[in-house]
Formats: sequence, C-alpha cells, structure tokens
Amino acid sequence: MATAVALRRAGHKVSIYERRDFKVEVGASISCAANGGQWLREWGVDIKRGKPVELMKLVMRDWDTGKILNQYDLDHYEADWGIPYYMFHRVDMHEMLLEAATSPDGPGEPCSVVVDHICSSVDYEKGEVTFENGNVIKADVIIGADGIRSVVRREIGVIPQMKSANQTCYRVNVRRSDIDKFNLMHDAVDPAIQFWGGFPKGELSRYYKIVMSPCSGGDIVSFYCFMPTEMTNHTQEGFVFAEVPVSDVMAGDYSRLDPKCQDLIKHSIDRMPWRLYVHQPYPTWHNGKVCLVGDAAHPMMPHQSQGACTAIEDAAALGLIFSKDYDFTTNVEAGLKFYEHIRKPRATRVQAASARATENLNERIGFTSLTAPEAALAAKDGKLTVNEMNEYDMKEHVAKEAKSYGHLFNAESP
Ligand SMILES: Cc1cc2nc3c(=O)[nH]c(=O)nc-3n(C[C@H](O)[C@H](O)[C@H](O)COP(=O)(O)OP(=O)(O)OC[C@H]3O[C@@H](n4cnc5c(N)ncnc54)[C@H](O)[C@@H]3O)c2cc1C
Repeated sequence: MATAVALRRAGHKVSIYERRDFKVEVGASISCAANGGQWLREWGVDIKRGKPVELMKLVMRDWDTGKILNQYDLDHYEADWGIPYYMFHRVDMHEMLLEAATSPDGPGEPCSVVVDHICSSVDYEKGEVTFENGNVIKADVIIGADGIRSVVRREIGVIPQMKSANQTCYRVNVRRSDIDKFNLMHDAVDPAIQFWGGFPKGELSRYYKIVMSPCSGGDIVSFYCFMPTEMTNHTQEGFVFAEVPVSDVMAGDYSRLDPKCQDLIKHSIDRMPWRLYVHQPYPTWHNGKVCLVGDAAHPMMPHQSQGACTAIEDAAALGLIFSKDYDFTTNVEAGLKFYEHIRKPRATRVQAASARATENLNERIGFTSLTAPEAALAAKDGKLTVNEMNEYDMKEHVAKEAKSYGHLFNAESP
C-alpha cells in the first residue's frame, strides 16, 4: 500500500491487486519509527486518521515480578528526529494508507484497488500477472508486495533458505474497556512498548518474552506473546487466522509470569498464532520487470519492530528511483537493479539485527544505546542504533549513487 502511495506521488498510474477483501485485516500493533513515519509525512498521508499512539518510552520488565529493569525514554524523540515514534493498530494503518492511495485528494492519479484476486503466476519478462480467477493483467512494472509467503518471489525464481525459529508467537489483544471494567494493570495503556522476559533467568528460556503496547488511539492493548517453538503445534509460517484458547498462549513458563500481565492475557480477545521462521538474505529481489518489497523481499524476526518500516523504506526508494529526477522510468530493469543496490544492504542489516535481538533484548534498537551509552559505541559493536536508523538520508543516497551509475538527473531537474 505504501508503494502504491509512493508511486502515485511520483506520477505513475498504479493498480493494487489483493487476494482478500479488506474485511479480514489483521488487528495487531505495528510500531512506526521515524525512518518509516518520515515517508508517511512526505507523501502527505493523513497520519491522524491512523489513530496513532505516540510512544514515550521502552520499558524492560522482569518476567516473574514485572519490576522495571531498564527504560529507554522517547520524550525527546520528536525533537531529535522531527517526527514522533508512532504505534498504529494494523487495521487503522491499513485504512490510512488505503485512503492516501485512493483518495481523489492529493498529488497524482488515485490508485485503483482490485480485491479477491489471488496471484497464481507471473511472467517477469512480459510483465504479466495471472490470477486464480483466470484474469491476466499486464504492466510496465510489477511489484510483489505479497508478504512472507510470496508467490511473486517464487515466480521470479527465488527459493528461500529458511529454518524454523527457536521462538514462536501468539498475538492477542485486550480492550481498554476491559482493563477498566476488570481493574487490570492500568499502566498497560501508557504510551510505551513494554517488554517482559527476553533474557535467560534461572531455568526460564530467553525465548519467553511479552511485548505489549497500546494502539488504536489507546482503545486496544496489543500483545505479542513469545515462547520456545517446541511449545506450539502450529507450523504454517506467518499469521494464521485461527483463534486459539488462552491455554495455548499461557503454556509453559507463563505460569511464572508477572500476575498482572497474566491477568491481562486472560482477558484477551483475537488470540492467533504467528509462526516464525528465519530467512537468509535472498540472492536477488528482482527479475525482468518484477521486483519484491517488504516481507516478500526481506522477512525478518519481529524483534526490532522494523518490518513495516523497512517496507515503507522500500516504497520510498521505488518512488524516488522512478521519479522524474532520474531516467529509470524509461529503463525499468536498470531501475529495479538500482533499487536492490540501494535497499538490500540496509534491509539485510536490519534483518540480521532482528535475528540477534531474538537472542538478546539488549540488541533491540533503543536498548542498544543504553547498553553502550554512546550510540557510536554501540554502532562500533555492529549493533543497530536509533541514530543509524534515523540519520539515514535516502534522498542523498539515491542521488549520489544514481550519479555514479550514470543515471543522470533529467534536464528539467535542479
Ligand atoms: C504480529 C506482527 C507484528 C508486527 N509488528 C511490527 C512492528 O511493530 N513494526 C514494524 O515495522 N513491523 C511489524 N511487523 C512486520 C510488518 O507487519 C510486516 O513487515 C509488514 O506488514 C510487511 O508488509 P508487506 O506489505 O510486505 O506484507 P503483508 O503486510 O503481509 O501484506 C501482504 C499482502 O499481500 C496479500 N497477498 C499475499 N499473497 C497474495 C497473492 N498470492 N495474491 C494477492 N495478494 C496476496 C496479503 O493478503 C496481504 O494483504 C509485524 C508483523 C506481524 C505479523
């Protein structure tokens, strides 16, 4: 959806094909750090429409007692980076982007949206997509934004090297109204991401971890409940739309979890499994007239909260590369190669840091600056820092590399 907005703003005619209708969008929190949020603003997305919660801290809590062990304050975040650290509900974020893509207002031709179209094959040389219902479409460029189990990826010949992660997850939500009604942990609605566990402690595995945050204007508190993979029978990668009983979520060492957090989970709704696999970086993200973005290109463990932000960065790169400032619109294959050149190193670095943060919560962006107080020191260790994520200037990067690749600015550009 972000790619559609970026390309619309760059002056292209965009059609979005989606396998479902939009009534079954996933309800879970998606944090949007400044490296993603800056592009929403650049594109003129009505961010308020996404009902964001503006995050003010990251809190590390003890698994058993809930005692606060460490805290990374975000109260200077907007002053430092020019935009707040947003937390969206995925449904709201989706609606916000859909509106930006299709609204008659704003620059560029509104994108068209075609639902109930399941892509079954792609001809990357001809630029054709065939759907399960028999419809075939042709386009100058095809962007495979079809997520972790991407069909487009398979069709361009990329076979993922992947293995089951040591950790699995259930996603659950708690309504704010239930927190009030049942007098549950009231600081659950604080504008923060709060973590329990994530470290080995006695016999407790490091893979037990809770990530909790409010979203949807504070009406929902969203939980990611992690545990060792052997605690689940679910095997299908990614989200599965299958409600599970609370006993599945509260398995194993959840009996030792901070009772206040247990109470919240016991009052949850929308409990669904989210099975995790670790993917190695793919050999390529493009072939012929086709490229991949987002989870189709670089699926990552969720522990940096950067999957969606990285997808937004991909979108931004495509918008810049196929803008009137460069000559790639007349040479799509060169543009897609250049896109991979720009995006893959940074996305791969985030992917690797997300895998590391599975093993050690101190590798999480934000906490990296606490464990090595100088951000520069953390970066020296190879750790990903807030500074590295937010100081990056993609416009400058693209301009510099395009010049050295000989894809000069168009004559009318400055
Ligand atoms: C539980 C959870 C929590 C997360 N938390 C965060 C977070 O806090 N911060 C963050 O930055 N990221 C987070 N992420 C990651 C983020 O959600 C993903 O990285 C992001 O959604 C990737 O976007 P995408 O468009 O590539 O893929 P998706 O969001 O998976 O979208 C793919 C789309 O393609 C459609 N599709 C799939 N196959 C086909 C087909 N064959 N034909 C047609 N359409 C098809 C799907 O229906 C879907 O609409 C989280 C992910 C999950 C699952």
